[in-house]
Amino acid sequence: MDPTCSDCGYDYRTLSNDDASSTLVHEVADTVRTLRYRRQTAPTPDGSWSALEYAGHLRDVLIVTRERTLHALREESPAVVTMGADDRVRRGEYANLSYFQTTAEISEAARRLAATWNRLSTQDWARTLRYNYPTPAIRELSWLAAHIVHEVVHHRSDIERLTTARKAVSLSPDYGAPWGLWSSNPPRPSPPASTELLTPANFGFPDSVVVRLRTWLDAWTANFADAPSDDQHTWRRGFDVAGWLHEGDALADLIAEALPDYTVERQYRTYAANAVRRTP
Ligand SMILES: [Zn+2]
Repeated sequence: MDPTCSDCGYDYRTLSNDDASSTLVHEVADTVRTLRYRRQTAPTPDGSWSALEYAGHLRDVLIVTRERTLHALREESPAVVTMGADDRVRRGEYANLSYFQTTAEISEAARRLAATWNRLSTQDWARTLRYNYPTPAIRELSWLAAHIVHEVVHHRSDIERLTTARKAVSLSPDYGAPWGLWSSNPPRPSPPASTELLTPANFGFPDSVVVRLRTWLDAWTANFADAPSDDQHTWRRGFDVAGWLHEGDALADLIAEALPDYTVERQYRTYAANAVRRTP
């Protein structure tokens, strides 16, 4: 087979075993950003998958690849059972996906696969399986890694072709993100080379909003993010989570008011599902 993809230009020879995990995580992060900050606005062309169908496919590719990798480690050249990519689309497996949920699932699947790849020795990478695509052949796990990174890169360009950038800001407190503000196209962009995370200055929020946002983020840090060693992130017992979500909604409304042509994504709401700690 040709070592470079005639469509997206990916070169199968560029990935080393040592770089497989970090490259996967990096390429998946790029693809996740593409999915978060773009939306399909035109109908899907005949014979193509939609952007969300590509996203669902990618998630499942990452999930089955970890299983196939582990299978090849415990058996000699096992035959891969085809995942039936088109069949999954036809059966509506990806019919009700959301961009937000699917990107979270893609990131999680990539993290698990990368962790498995990280544990492989040189001998492990030379283990083989009988792979069906693009043509039936015995492949080493190192080839499989390059193939999967190619899937991520290739489908990112498929998704880009089907979508356009949208103006959106998401409100999502996160570790190491001082303001919990995320956007690929803020009204006042940072200098091109800047690696700083976005701040209220990128959006021109009124001072009153900035002060309220700071208080709300500090409450998250003090009552949720302060026990990062727990297996599951949890809320401090006795903290008024419903009140915190309510204030988040009020802030999201204020942000929407300040940025009328932006969509405000209320990603902080996902924290509502986290448990409360057993101990105070
Ligand atoms: Zn390609």
